[in-house]
Amino acid sequence: MNRRQFIARSALFTGASISLPALSAFSAQTDLVTTAQTYEFAPSGHFKVTYYGHFAELPVGTVKPEGWIKAWLERQADGLSGHPENMAYPYDTCMYSGKIPPPSVPHGEAWWPCEQSGYFIDGTTRLNHLIDNPKARQIPEASLEYILAHSGQGKLGESVWPWPNTVIGRALLAEYSATANIKIALTLNECLAGSWDFKGRDGFPFEEALYLYGISGNPNLLEHARQSYNQYFKNDPTSFSYVDKIRGNDPLRSHGCTAAEQLKLLPLMYCYTGDPEALELADLAYRKVEGDSLMPDGGIVSSEHLGTTAFNSRHETCDISDWSWSFGYMLLASGDAHWADRIEQMIFNALPGVASKDFKQLQYFSAANQVLCSNTASSTKGQLAGQTYGQARMSYRAAHDTECCAGNVNRAMPNYVTRMWMRMEGGLAATLFGPSEVKAEIDGQPVAITEETEYPFRETISFKIKTPKPVMFPLGLRIPEWCNAASVMVNGEPADAELKAGTFTVLKREFKDGDTVTLTLPMSIQLKEWFDGRAVSVQRGPLVYSVAVDERRVESWHDTEATRSTLNGNNIQGFPALEFFPAGEWRYGIDFDQKNAAAKFKVIESPVRENPFLVSATPVRIEVPLRVLPQWEASWKAVIEPPPANLDLMPQNPASLPDEAQCQATGESKIITLVPYGATHLRLTTLPVIPAGKPA
Ligand SMILES: [Zn+2]
Repeated sequence: MNRRQFIARSALFTGASISLPALSAFSAQTDLVTTAQTYEFAPSGHFKVTYYGHFAELPVGTVKPEGWIKAWLERQADGLSGHPENMAYPYDTCMYSGKIPPPSVPHGEAWWPCEQSGYFIDGTTRLNHLIDNPKARQIPEASLEYILAHSGQGKLGESVWPWPNTVIGRALLAEYSATANIKIALTLNECLAGSWDFKGRDGFPFEEALYLYGISGNPNLLEHARQSYNQYFKNDPTSFSYVDKIRGNDPLRSHGCTAAEQLKLLPLMYCYTGDPEALELADLAYRKVEGDSLMPDGGIVSSEHLGTTAFNSRHETCDISDWSWSFGYMLLASGDAHWADRIEQMIFNALPGVASKDFKQLQYFSAANQVLCSNTASSTKGQLAGQTYGQARMSYRAAHDTECCAGNVNRAMPNYVTRMWMRMEGGLAATLFGPSEVKAEIDGQPVAITEETEYPFRETISFKIKTPKPVMFPLGLRIPEWCNAASVMVNGEPADAELKAGTFTVLKREFKDGDTVTLTLPMSIQLKEWFDGRAVSVQRGPLVYSVAVDERRVESWHDTEATRSTLNGNNIQGFPALEFFPAGEWRYGIDFDQKNAAAKFKVIESPVRENPFLVSATPVRIEVPLRVLPQWEASWKAVIEPPPANLDLMPQNPASLPDEAQCQATGESKIITLVPYGATHLRLTTLPVIPAGKPA
């Protein structure tokens, strides 16, 4: 049976945790249905149409987190996900369980608060199906209940705009995926009947339309998505995803979140139509963005527009959630392990880097080389001419003057967990690694696989199979691009498998209860060159390592003058705002010789604790000799308090790449300890290279 046939018959293969309800008939009352024909919705895990993606998603809740990832999600629940009142407007309102009152500073009343609340409800809806935490459950459940009772054509709850309906629609998709509650699918389906505009963000509900098409077979949904794709996204010269722009030489430029939302149509169209051009364009477009805008921490330059990566580039936190979600569709469509590598690097580095370590505060903008996270640094200004973004965006706060990131950050890790395992033809694939358990049904047999590991802090991953009867199926295992020495054992014996970096290896065999597959992914130090070799970043496996700058932490329990007016009179609730000022040296450079570079690095391991992203207790540290660059001082000295009144006088932060004169080192090199990027607040990640031949 080929993949196409298999997937078309995939009703044979569903998540075992799903109880299959009797399918209720879909009554043809909306204009989506043009004939008397009726459609039924299959539970998640079934397709009623041919599905062309290489992988398919498992129902939400089929993969359960364990170990450090579970502990992360528990911190989320104890932090922002369970206490949105700290995040100010609109998170301190009813959100989707009523009509959100207008913001104190008028802005996009019809859609803006609905978009932000939608991010939050989506993230927490998923979270609820991954961990059992009553504190985090109340708000998303109340919102979903209200939406089911107050929706209609073009309307989800009180939201009547297609773009926020895309955002909250993902919460409904997640809830349907986890529960197969037919009311959810009907509500979403009816909303879509009044949601088609085809332009910009208002065309984005194609994500929901294609999902519903897959489980209902209603061709009108596919037709709407196809029109959106053809009329606006592909063939409109003003669109940033215009086909000639994708095929041309210039970088793709757009607002970062918009770009991530828009590009996902390409892999989605391939999954549901098999159009090879859609997949080809998708690969071109995503690789173009990656080639121009990938940051050392796996994030995408977005302040707020996509830009070419520089030493002082930043990203908006929304872009971490949005791009990791968008890359996930590329992984589903193409089966290319590359996109899983991209997601892991973003989730293991950029994500923990933007959040405080108890998940009670976040940055709006963050950077690989941030040496000051204060309320008044010049970094709060936009990079485009004339933009003066609000202040304090690089400090760690529960409430920012622009609200999107505080809601969106709650999505990133729950999304990661749901995509750690995917369906592949006839079996399962471990796509994104980490401690977890997956339960599925294969050939009518319930199968569970426990993934025991301390990855990405350790190299070994054990997959333990639980099944009542032996069952033959393929198990796909990703071999990351960074790993050229992978090995696989089955019950202690080397497996006969091709282990090529950047591919999936497939073990097809009869698995018995208690079988153990052990994947070892040796992690060597890898130095990535940046900016024509003028700087390097340090990676080991999927983790990026940084100099953790000694920091002075300042807590505020009142809104600053700069942010008060935009926080809707919220004042700070339970979680203080945090500023970090440098309290130690950070102006380091590296004597770099690619040939023997790795020999200078010493890896030190210690036990993996519940929170591996505490600088005092990181499970892996790397010692390396670095030299101080005293000439670099001029660019940062003025950050010492009190800050000048005129922001333009502030030094550049994130730090800028030192020029050759500033790269003159003095004195002996000293051993500096690098820690995982995600454990830091203040950090130097891209180490300037000291030109060879200069006096030591
Ligand atoms: Zn944002």
